[in-house]
This record gives sequence, C-alpha cells and structure tokens, in this order.
Amino acid sequence: MAFDPALMKSSYDVVVVGARAAGAATAMLLARRGVRVLLVEQGARGADTLSTLALMRGGVVQLSRWGLLDAIRASGTPRVQKTTFHYAGTPLEVRIKPRDGVDALYAPRRTVLDPLLADAAAAAGADVAYHVRLVDVTRDASGRVDGVVVEGADRVPRTIQAPLVIGADGLHSMVAKQVGAQPYQVGPHVTAVIYTLVRGLVADGYHWHYAGAASAGQIPTTGDDVLVFVSIPRDRFMRELRFDLEGSFHAVLREVAPSLGAAVQLLGAAAPFRGFAGHEGVVRQAWGAGWALVGDAGYFKDPLTAHGITDALRDAELLARAAERGTDEALADYQAVRDDLSMRLFWITDEIASFAWDMPRLQTLHKAMSEEMAREARYLNELDAVTA
Ligand SMILES: Cc1cc2nc3c(=O)[nH]c(=O)nc-3n(C[C@H](O)[C@H](O)[C@H](O)COP(=O)(O)OP(=O)(O)OC[C@H]3O[C@@H](n4cnc5c(N)ncnc54)[C@H](O)[C@@H]3O)c2cc1C
Repeated sequence: MAFDPALMKSSYDVVVVGARAAGAATAMLLARRGVRVLLVEQGARGADTLSTLALMRGGVVQLSRWGLLDAIRASGTPRVQKTTFHYAGTPLEVRIKPRDGVDALYAPRRTVLDPLLADAAAAAGADVAYHVRLVDVTRDASGRVDGVVVEGADRVPRTIQAPLVIGADGLHSMVAKQVGAQPYQVGPHVTAVIYTLVRGLVADGYHWHYAGAASAGQIPTTGDDVLVFVSIPRDRFMRELRFDLEGSFHAVLREVAPSLGAAVQLLGAAAPFRGFAGHEGVVRQAWGAGWALVGDAGYFKDPLTAHGITDALRDAELLARAAERGTDEALADYQAVRDDLSMRLFWITDEIASFAWDMPRLQTLHKAMSEEMAREARYLNELDAVTA
C-alpha cells in the first residue's frame, strides 16, 4: 500500500532526497539499521529514466548481499555470462568468472530496479513519499543543515527536521547547490548517447564495439529486450546528430558495428529513441555540516563505461555505514573511501570518452578498468551484510 505523503512526520533521523539507485538503496540500508528515514521523490514510483542499464560486478555484488537478486531474476532480467569487446571489428570475449558471490551480470530496466530498492526501503520501515519535491534545506543558527522544506501535490510547503539531509537527487542536485558542495575534479571529455530497445535480437551477453571516434553496445535487459546504444563525442552530436535521433542512431551503428546495424534496421526499434547530450564528469565534496551527497549528486562520470548505477549502489552502503556512526569523522571517511574506489575509474572513463586513443591503448584502459572493478567488488563482498 502506497505511503500517503500527508502522513510524513515533522522529524526524522535522516531525510533522503531522490528515490532511485543511490537514494532508495541508502534509505533501505539506513532503515535496516533501525534509523528513522524519510525518502522523498518528486516523480512517480517506477517511472523510467535515461540509462543504458548495465550493472557491473560491484553492483550485482550489492544486490546479492542485500537479498534482492532473486527479485531481479524473477522480473525476467537475463543473466549476462560474457562480455565481448569488438576492437575495430576484432572480437575479444571475456567470460564472467564466478567471484565475490557473483556468477553473472544483469541489466534490469530502471522501472524494475529503482522501485525494487524503494519498496525494500519501505519494507524495512522507511517512509517513502512519491510526488514530493525538495524546495529548500533549513539551517540552525550556526548554519548547520537541520532539515528540509518539501512540497507535495497540494503545493503546501512542509518543514521536516532531520540532523542529516542526504542529497541523492542526481547530477543537477538541488541539495548540492543549496549546501554549496564544491566540485574538486572535473572530467573534460564528454560523450553523447542515443539508444533504443530492440526485440528479437540474439543476445549473448554484453557487447561493446569501438571503431573510429564512436562506440556502440548491446545490453540484454528485462523481458527479452536488448538495449542498443551508440556513443559519440558531444561536439559531433551537437553539430550533426541531435536533430534526427533515429537516423543518426542507424548511421552511427552502421559505421561502428555494420552487422549489428543491419540486424537492428531489419528488426526495428521496440521503444522510442532516447538521446543524452552528455555532461562533464564531476566529483563534488560529499559531506558537510548536516548534509551528505550520494550517487550522481556527488560523483558523475561519463556513461560510456556504464558504471554509474554500480557507483550509486556502492556509495549508498558506504554512506549508510557512515551515517549510522553519525560523526563528521565517519562522513570524512565515506568521502575518502568513495574517492579511493572511484578516482582511477573516473580518469580511465574520461580518457575513453576522449576517443583520443588507438586500439592498443584502449585495451590497456579496459584492462585497468577491469582491475579497478575487481578491487571494488572484492571490497564490497568483504563488508558484513545487513540483509533484512
Ligand atoms: C544516457 C545514460 C546512460 C547511462 N547508462 C548507464 C549504464 O549502462 N550503467 C550504469 O551503471 N549507469 C549508467 N548511467 C548512469 C546512471 O544512470 C546514474 O549514475 C544513476 O542513475 C545515478 O543514480 P542516482 O540515484 O544517483 O540519481 P538519479 O538516477 O538521477 O535519480 C535522482 C532522483 O532524484 C529525484 N529528484 C531530483 N530532484 C529532486 C527534488 N528536488 N525533490 C525530490 N526528488 C528529486 C529525481 O526525480 C530522480 O528520480 C547512464 C546515464 C545516462 C545519462
């Protein structure tokens, strides 16, 4: 039964803003630790969002540790047991080895993953309020953040007190703006993405194609659909591709992966074409007096390496643990561990997004990325699980 926003209390231990990968997972983990949490989301439960959906090993480790992987499988999301890189047409196949409690990857639709996490937060005792929007943060006399002002469908502002406000409100985070969270790393290389879903494509795992200054990929998702994307430098997208997403998608796909392009042309798209013009990578200060940021709100990198959801699920747990300790030192540790696990991935992604490599260099970058992701998965798998 949906939570009625009119029943929001006037105070909580923690208010989390944004109920997708980062916010819903953080609220779930806090509620499982007995923390009184309010999770607010301006959108509707289960609404779709821009994403090419691929989870990496660390993200699957998290879903498994949290007891949610069976629900992902039950949703009809296929197992991904290999990844094939195509370097200018030459394939290199990598099998997903059983490791860290994971023997397959998954790419669930966001209409499955995000509500699954939010429902798990509600089941653990969090109040989860949809169609409720943050309009302001409040501060005490010392300037410390001590709550939020939110508005529901009735547009009546309500003040809710909380000693910790968590911004999980995405790349353009209002929490980050209101607390003045400073960026301290900016990744200058930006790619744009165009994607759709295709039905009837034979999908044997993830495929990533690279040729010239463009890439493409195939990601099997929930319900036997395959997400097919193309990725190009933002300048080219802005100059020539953004005006006709469908035509541009087919043209770039034929350039990068001709046989995939022909198959997709034949089968046709099973969903509207969606485009993302790209955004610089940014790493922001992750905490301050009475506030913290998680997910894209605190750390965004180019989607080309498909690691943002995995980051969000990882950092949800790092932050929930820090928030439970409840000290500034714990929040500083959160930021330090986030950065230790992220910064190599951030700069590798930025270089891949530059398209200024040759194929041997690209393979070196992929190898480095794989080592970092293995380190991340090992770190997560070694944490104690709180499953209920
Ligand atoms: C085109 C594209 C492709 C991508 N592909 C992949 C991929 O294949 N694999 C991968 O791992 N990652 C991918 N990513 C990245 C991934 O989607 C993000 O890293 C991930 O969604 C971040 O989750 P989040 O919870 O931090 O933020 P978001 O998913 O952005 O969620 C933030 C939520 O906050 C809510 N919100 C915002 N403001 C307010 C407010 N004022 N009040 C209340 N609610 C608010 C929003 O409605 C939203 O639901 C892709 C991104 C893009 C753009």
